[in-house]
Amino acid sequence: MNAVREISPDARRARQAEIAARLARVLPQASVLLEHEALKPYECDGLSAYRETPLVAVIPSDEEQVAAVLRVARETRTPVVARGSGTGLSGGALPLADGILLSLAKFNRVVEVDRAARQARVQPGVTNLRISQQVAPLGLYYAPDPSSQIACSIGGNVAENSGGVHCLKYGLTVHNIARVRVITIEGDLVDLGSEGLDAPGYDLLALAHGSEGLLAVILEVTVKLLPSPEAAQVIMASFADVESAGEAVASVIGAGIVPAGLEMMDKLATRAVEDFVHAGYDLEAEAILLAESDGTHEEVAHEIAKMGEVMCASGATDIRISQSEAERLRFWSGRKAAFPAVGRISPDYYCIDGSIPRGALAHVLRRTAELSTHYGLRCANVFHAGDGNMHPLILYDANVPGELERTEAFAADILELCIAVGGTITGEHGVGIEKINQMCSQFAPAELAQFHAVKAAFDPEGLLNPGKKVPTLHRCAEYGAMRVKGGALPHPDLPRF
Ligand SMILES: Cc1cc2nc3c(=O)[nH]c(=O)nc-3n(C[C@H](O)[C@H](O)[C@H](O)COP(=O)(O)OP(=O)(O)OC[C@H]3O[C@@H](n4cnc5c(N)ncnc54)[C@H](O)[C@@H]3O)c2cc1C
Repeated sequence: MNAVREISPDARRARQAEIAARLARVLPQASVLLEHEALKPYECDGLSAYRETPLVAVIPSDEEQVAAVLRVARETRTPVVARGSGTGLSGGALPLADGILLSLAKFNRVVEVDRAARQARVQPGVTNLRISQQVAPLGLYYAPDPSSQIACSIGGNVAENSGGVHCLKYGLTVHNIARVRVITIEGDLVDLGSEGLDAPGYDLLALAHGSEGLLAVILEVTVKLLPSPEAAQVIMASFADVESAGEAVASVIGAGIVPAGLEMMDKLATRAVEDFVHAGYDLEAEAILLAESDGTHEEVAHEIAKMGEVMCASGATDIRISQSEAERLRFWSGRKAAFPAVGRISPDYYCIDGSIPRGALAHVLRRTAELSTHYGLRCANVFHAGDGNMHPLILYDANVPGELERTEAFAADILELCIAVGGTITGEHGVGIEKINQMCSQFAPAELAQFHAVKAAFDPEGLLNPGKKVPTLHRCAEYGAMRVKGGALPHPDLPRF
């Protein structure tokens, strides 16, 4: 467990001056940020409930500068937190008070597009959406599409193994990356993966996915591209209760259909969205499903008809099918804007991310509603239903004493529920600091010990993003004791001055 290291403001200033002086020797002055105002934008990621000011932030512009920053970190034994766009929802890019915040924002070039190989080499700071935009004139696109794709970086996508609406059919980030170039804390440049379908040796490319900045810093990513489908259409199906919508999801997949996307939103979410983006959702429905089909015109027509039949048989009260590309995009615009829309109806919201077997959707949704009543906190559901990837959004007000703590306890119960039904505590947002306690429930001590061994093999001194993702066994013992008493541990338990 990371000791909480309290030191005086004077000692902090002295340490900051020492690190900054060393960094200023290897980076341009403007790329080293020290002032409180300059550091403020980095104090949290998308999980804004937790904030910390880094000791110093750096914005290097090439590989040599990153290597130099890591050298300074090594020599001064200073922790380093890599940061892409800071949209992560589990506190992965949360700075450490005694650490260097390493922004990859200047690594923003698409280096090469290889049309024949259907691949693109991009720097880690390039946004997800820009990749597809850049290759669109070639009739290609990059399939994984997190709802944050306008802002999130491909480096962050790899580090979180991000998902998105289209990952049901096309796979997560890990399935769409051919090669990743990383730099280790020792300063070694290593290429993971290859252009071939398989490679001998351990699959270190897969290991890099979801590594959350703990193993190495990603410097370049080779993404796989797909031909843009000839046609795509979306069904919007209404349901009188969330349970039957959950059962319809299992029935669609059970019927042998693999939609390009299969998403669910409950009434609280659709109402928030309608007021925000006017996507044309059914406001009387307790839940809606959005199911997309893509492929040739014939494939789409056939699949849409089949999905419509299955949904009607599962109790859909209304079915609408997009009749134009504009309408298809409008249906999706609501789903993509759901988080900010929910943000408009509550001072704060907390997005949970757990995965469950699809067959358990109805049960977990019912239990979540019961927990919502128990904790006295509203909860909206917007999620990748086809993947069984839940995103309950708990609405709370951080200014009301005790509400954040109640929210954390509610979130912890949902994650424990995911484990209990055979699922996992993350579908795509990673563990970060947010779910570190539930890692203790998900994994046995021997399994956590293996994770620590992997971390130590890459980063023996534990300088890359320490305190995130993998809990210490000591922490797990404390968490176990707290759960027995019916509480949740306070967050975050990170090194701090
Ligand atoms: C409105 C909203 C919607 C979202 N929707 C989705 C969704 O549909 N699907 C989904 O999967 N996620 C979603 N997210 C979460 C988030 O966008 C993803 O996790 C995304 O991949 C984070 O990318 P980022 O560039 O912002 O990374 P950051 O938040 O900056 O960092 C995330 C983690 O990656 C590490 N990291 C970043 N860059 C590097 C690098 N170059 N080398 C090593 N480590 C690095 C960081 O240390 C940190 O641990 C959403 C977030 C928001 C705010």
